[in-house]
Amino acid sequence: MRTQIAAANWKMNLTLPQAEALLQQLIEAPIQLHEHQQVVLAVPAPYLHRMVQLLNGKPGFQVAAQNCYAQKSGAFTGETSVEMLVSIGVTHVVIGHSERREYFLESNQLLAQKVSIALEYGLTPIFCCGEPLAIREANTQNEWVAKQLQESLYHMSADQLKKVVIAYEPIWAIGTGKTASSEQAQDIHAFIRSQLSHQYGASLAAEIPVLYGGSVKASNAAELFHQTDVDGGLVGGASLQAVEFTAIIQALK
Ligand code: PEP
Repeated sequence: MRTQIAAANWKMNLTLPQAEALLQQLIEAPIQLHEHQQVVLAVPAPYLHRMVQLLNGKPGFQVAAQNCYAQKSGAFTGETSVEMLVSIGVTHVVIGHSERREYFLESNQLLAQKVSIALEYGLTPIFCCGEPLAIREANTQNEWVAKQLQESLYHMSADQLKKVVIAYEPIWAIGTGKTASSEQAQDIHAFIRSQLSHQYGASLAAEIPVLYGGSVKASNAAELFHQTDVDGGLVGGASLQAVEFTAIIQALK
């Protein structure tokens, strides 16, 4: 079975004591992960090391950065390299979140470089794609997402691609309370898998986890996650509440 992932994106929220308390609640929650299930916590950069320490290797739980820089090291004031992340025990990095694309003008080409450098250092990229509302209303979301995949992922070999996690996040559903219907999610996840299949072959495409993101909550997670091509979620707002996020983890298939 494909890896199923409940990923939290805490974004720029919580003080350190609040982050520690939230993590402690998750550590103590009655969560029974199966072998193919993972919890990945994308926490603010200043807390990465502390969260890795507090988790202390808890099986199935991993820590992600919300961003990284596209160069190995050097005079890039304020940026974080993938080598730094690996050196503190971070295993994943979110790349291309729509907020990074919109507010920090990250292009598909820059994201391609970030994906490459993450893989080079053994970090798992959680590559985000997804369309704005106008594109959905014009019913051209498949073309939009296909271009994002093509320009940021297809420079990779099959061996590299199989280490990537994809998160489909329609921008109109992020933080808005609007969720894609389970049918809309399944349709575009199946489309993403068909694109990967076309480019890399069906067996590799069948291995890649494709997460859904956009107002996932305890009340809609199970229905979304039970779709054939939905392999879990990338969760913003609802991941800041331990009880809510625990229920989302428990909804993994
Ligand atoms: C996100 O930030 O990736 C996200 C999906 O946010 P929310 O769950 O709050 O819509």
